[in-house]
Amino acid sequence: MAPPLRLYDNYTRTLRLFEPLKAGGVGLYTCGPTVYDYQHIGNFRTFLFEDVLKRVLEWNGYKVVHVMNITDVGHLVSDADEGEDKMEKGSRRTGKSAWEIAKLYTEAFLADMRALNIEPPTYLPRATDHIPEQIAFIADIEKKGYAYRTSDGIYFDTSKQPDYGYLARLDKSGLEAGKRVDVGEKRHPTDFALWKFSAPGEKRQMEWDSPWGRGFPGWHIECSAMAQQYLGDYFDIHCGGEDHIPVHHTNEIAQTEARVGTRLANFWMHGYFLLEGDAKMAKSAGEFLRLKALTDRGYDPLAYRYLCLTAHYRSQLNFTWEALDGAATALDRLRRGFHALPDGGTPEARYLERFTAELNDDLNVPRALALAWELLRGDLVDLSVTKATLAAFDRVFGFGLPTWQPRQETVPEAIHALAAARSAARAARDWAEADRLRAELQAAGWEVEDRPDGYALKRRSA
Ligand code: AMP
Ligand code: ZN
Repeated sequence: MAPPLRLYDNYTRTLRLFEPLKAGGVGLYTCGPTVYDYQHIGNFRTFLFEDVLKRVLEWNGYKVVHVMNITDVGHLVSDADEGEDKMEKGSRRTGKSAWEIAKLYTEAFLADMRALNIEPPTYLPRATDHIPEQIAFIADIEKKGYAYRTSDGIYFDTSKQPDYGYLARLDKSGLEAGKRVDVGEKRHPTDFALWKFSAPGEKRQMEWDSPWGRGFPGWHIECSAMAQQYLGDYFDIHCGGEDHIPVHHTNEIAQTEARVGTRLANFWMHGYFLLEGDAKMAKSAGEFLRLKALTDRGYDPLAYRYLCLTAHYRSQLNFTWEALDGAATALDRLRRGFHALPDGGTPEARYLERFTAELNDDLNVPRALALAWELLRGDLVDLSVTKATLAAFDRVFGFGLPTWQPRQETVPEAIHALAAARSAARAARDWAEADRLRAELQAAGWEVEDRPDGYALKRRSA
């Protein structure tokens, strides 16, 4: 028997046994993209980690309800609730409306998700489709005495919560002491916006009426509200990138604790960053690598998936083209090796168990990959069993091994025409003409092979 699933929970900072809160089903919330620009490959490292987590849960027999939000309003340029809304800024940059860019970048995001073979979430709610729920959430927090008003919005008073910042182990007294002048009208440096007012005289593209005045919701409230709506007051796992620990997730927890008294999720898990040249890859830095930059250079998107799977999700990964090359070569070998094996076997129990043991050890995917290589190079006598076992592993890896086909050589029309004419000559027993056409094909670089059902064409090797 393989050991049960253990996952690292950042809230308790321990490796814990995972047991679903409700029998059989797992509620999973993962923070989605802010759609003011393309997602970069760093973002996709986090989405790939979450995809693998979901597949491991499924591997363990759980049905997963997965919610990923689309942040299409309210994420300000600075996490400290200052500056412009990223969507309105994106609109100025591109000359398109905020609604148009949300649509454009959501579609681009979904296309990249498909290219990386990331399973689609069960629900993909947009923040702008859930404004009433966010307003109701804020109204409740206000009733309970956690909110106050400044000239630019409604803020959450973090001093009302003795354990505010526990997830990030924030040193609140240190923060108070080092308080910089720019807290503005906020009472404490860690207080954050629940609702921001449209500036007087400003006509925002995205704004709504609320009990407090016209404006838009803060970024953190969107996740608290949608997570609660789709998954309930307390669900199994909440994920995001490591940057979400000190602010975004800390504030989601604060809001939910204020409203319903839970910490929202039983497990808090975070994907660690993809770095480029030891610097964090960030959209706000302007320059970043999209998946398209990789495919433009001829890489299969799944080579990037492979690269991400070679590192544990709780360690940072430095992106280099050499590493991507290595991943592309390895994936190609794995595919060809798999493809060359005979069909008809059933998975081997001992390997499945070892595989489960690696996954259940806080998703040790690098070791699970090493096991796949051991299997492929392997000791099993019946190669169809090797193939069936690798196909089972692929339910977690997501490389699409069973459906992969070696690339077919595309044969030009003129070559087909010559080969067809040669077949016709043979059928008419005109051997001289058939030989002449074969020579013509060879001169053009093609070899023709006769088959019972016609012919096959192959490029002549040099
Ligand atoms: P955003 O679109 O900025 O809201 O980010 C989407 C997701 O990507 C979040 O879970 C972030 O924490 C995560 N993320 C942002 N930058 C990186 C990076 N360089 N490496 C890995 N994950 C990242
Ligand atoms: Zn979120």
